Order: sequence, then structure tokens, then C-alpha cells
Amino acid sequence: AVTQTENLTAAIQRIDANHHWHPFTDTAALNSKGARVIVRGEGVYVWDSEGNRIIDGMAGLWCVNMGYGRKELIDAAKQQLDELPYYNHFFQTTTTPAAVLAQEIASVTPGDLNHIFFANSGSEAVDTLIRMIRHYWAVEGKPEKNVLIGRKNAYHGSTIGGTSLGGMGAMHKQGGPYLPNIEHIDQPYWYGEAGDLDEEAFGLKAARALEEKILEVGPEKVAAFIGEPIQGAGGVIVPPASYWPEIQRICRKYDILLAADEVICGFGRTGSWFGSQTFGIEPDLMSMAKGLSSGYMPISAVAVGDRVANCLIEKGGEFFHGFTYSGHPVAAAVAVANIRLMKQEKVVDYVADDIGPYFQQQLRAVLADQPLTGHIEGAGLVAGIALVKDREAKQFFADEGTVGTLCRDHCFENGLIMRAVGDRMVLSPPLVISRKEVDELCAKVRKCFDLTL
Ligand code: PLP
Repeated sequence: AVTQTENLTAAIQRIDANHHWHPFTDTAALNSKGARVIVRGEGVYVWDSEGNRIIDGMAGLWCVNMGYGRKELIDAAKQQLDELPYYNHFFQTTTTPAAVLAQEIASVTPGDLNHIFFANSGSEAVDTLIRMIRHYWAVEGKPEKNVLIGRKNAYHGSTIGGTSLGGMGAMHKQGGPYLPNIEHIDQPYWYGEAGDLDEEAFGLKAARALEEKILEVGPEKVAAFIGEPIQGAGGVIVPPASYWPEIQRICRKYDILLAADEVICGFGRTGSWFGSQTFGIEPDLMSMAKGLSSGYMPISAVAVGDRVANCLIEKGGEFFHGFTYSGHPVAAAVAVANIRLMKQEKVVDYVADDIGPYFQQQLRAVLADQPLTGHIEGAGLVAGIALVKDREAKQFFADEGTVGTLCRDHCFENGLIMRAVGDRMVLSPPLVISRKEVDELCAKVRKCFDLTL
């Protein structure tokens, strides 16, 4: 209850501090200042409980791709809730939204990724990938082919499987031990880690680290390589153009499955339906979530190509894996409406040909002479900006994360949501952002960077 002297914001903050344990949060630090209360959203904006309008440069957590307040998505949820909020008879039944969504996803995935397994979060999709890939090789008569290779600074979720496959040092230090038979190679971070190599040479070198790892482990033991087309939570690390084709070549050479974690890159973020298309690769499996429903409902999926699906379906018998809410009809109905709306509004073309290039260009223009800005990389409507102490000498800050956090706080206080990953500032606005809103976003970025200086 709200006490007589308290306003509503303070009351929610008090209740929140007492009972709501936030993910990825230093709870004591948050409670000392109180969590900001977000109450409403429309288009690319959200409002807090004090009436402040904030431009959402992150589309929530990289997910509200079609923007806030989309009637088509809201109506789809309402209608499905009225008709049938849930049904599953131990997985032997289906619902119209689940079946139609599987078809809609297959209509936009590349190649033969036509078999869709549903889960509820990106982490669950990644765990599904891990189990499915290992099971596939076992059914193929090669159970020893069970080592998965991921990358340092990759993010694949917070479950035991996702954390094990991910390469986040801070996460690995807590809550372990993690899964055996998972290896990590270096990330393809050209600006930060290439030394004197040009982009193309560095991309090839970074990809060949996979070949070295395969030979070290033994190709007969390696099941798959898994990576985000662009590492998102790692700070938007865009690999050089030479990287992914070389990874694909190496996977084929050693008969190793290639899995793309499209949880952030999927559904238009990079200017193609999937990041794999932007980088010219044909994965055997893909995990997806976030933009699948524009974040309106929790839902994720794994799209599986013919090779793995046909083997498991024809020879595998029952796959002992699934979730109570796999293919949840309300979430699926929203995702169907979301994909159809994306097609109707040609959002992927808009990102590829219009707003993506405009955003990348305006961001570079507005930060061209901003001294903190060391390097900008991005594709479509996602960008990462390295903050540096000295841009000419390419000198990073010694106490990594301090300046990034300061910058993020300036953004938050000045009506802009922008994420800090160490000293990399990250943007991933809704795909429906207009040119005028991009101008506003970029002007705010400049202002907040200047305040941080
Ligand atoms: N994979 C990638 C590439 C992600 O970016 C994320 C979340 O940010 C996940 C997996 C985990 O998704 P979720 O938070 O829905 O479990």
C-alpha cells in the first residue's frame, strides 16, 4: 500500500527493492537509488512514472523491433487469449498458431531450415541446440563427436547450457562448474585485438583459430561451432567480411555442424531476415527469440535444416526434450502477427536500404569529432562504439567499464536508453524508427558523450 507521505514512484520502488530481485544487477547498489519505473511505450519511446519521455535506443533488450503499442500484435494476443489461452496434451496435439508460426518462420529462414522446435527464451533455444546437436551425432553413430566450440565474449544465455557455451568470463566465475566438452576460441574483434593486421587478414586469422582448435581436439570429437553473426551482448562486435565464409569452409572441411545464434541478429536487425544472410553463411541450425515476437510475448525457436532434422525424425525416435510452453498459442499468435506485419510493412527492406544506412551514416557524422569515440562498427540498426582515452594512439581506459557506466548514466538521465558493455556503447533501436527519430537519437548520443568527457 502507498503510505500517505509517499508518491506512487517511491512506493513502487520500495516494494521493488523489498521483493523484486533483478537479473544481472548489483542489487544493493540499485536499491540504494531505486529502480526507475517504466510505465508506458509508444513507437520508439517509453515513459517513466514521473512522466519523462525516453527514446529507447535499445528496443528494450534488442527485441521490440516493431516498436511499442502495435495494435496488430496486441489484438492477436487478446483474440488468442479469448479463444484458447493454452493447450498441450503431452505434446501430441497442436494449435493453429503454433503450426502457422512454424510455417511463417520457415518462409523467412534461409536454405532448408524448415523444421521448427519451439521454446520460450533465447537461453532455452540454445540449450535445445546443444542437446539436439549432440543427440544428432549420437544417432549418426558418433557419440564421441560431442565437443562444442563457441567463442570468448559470446553471449548465449544464462542457463547452465547457455553460460557454458557463452564466453563471458564474469559469468563463468559464478555458479559453476559448467558443462564439459565445450571449448572457446578468440572473438573476431578487429578494432580491439587485431594489432597491425588489416580487417580481411584478421578475419581469416580469427576464423582459422577454429581450425586450430578442431585439430587440437580432434575432428572426430567436434560436433559443432556456434556463434552469433554479430556478437551483441559482447558489445556489438562485427566480424570482418572474410570471417564467416572461412568459418563455413572450415566446418564443411571437417564435417562439423554450423549453428548460428540469431537471438539478436534475427528478424531484420542487420538488414536481412537473419544475420547469417548478411554474412553469406548457410548454418545447419539457428536459434532465434527476441524479434520473433518483437518482445511482446516470450517465445523462441530453433530452426533445423534437413540434414539434422531428417536424421533425427527418421532414425532418432523420441527426442526427450521440450517445455510446457513450447509453441504457446498466445505467444505464437503474436509472433505470427509480428512476422506478417514485418512482411506487410517491408521492414527488412527498410532497414537494408533506407533507415539502416541512414542510421550508420548519421551516427558516424555526429560523432566524427567527438574525442571519446574511438571506433564505430555496426550493420543495419545495430551499432557498437568503442570509447577510448586517446583515439589517435588507440588507447583504451585502464579501469575498463568506468567511463562506459558514466556515459550510460548520462544517457539515462537525458532521455536516452543506451547500453554500456565495458567501455563499448551499444545501440539497437526499434526497426521502425524514422529518420527524424534517428536524428533525435544521434543528437542525444552526442550530447551524452560530451557530458561524459
Ligand atoms: N543468445 C543471444 C545471442 C542473446 O543475445 C541472448 C540474450 O540476449 C540469448 C541467447 C539469451 O536469450 P534469453 O535472455 O531470452 O534467454
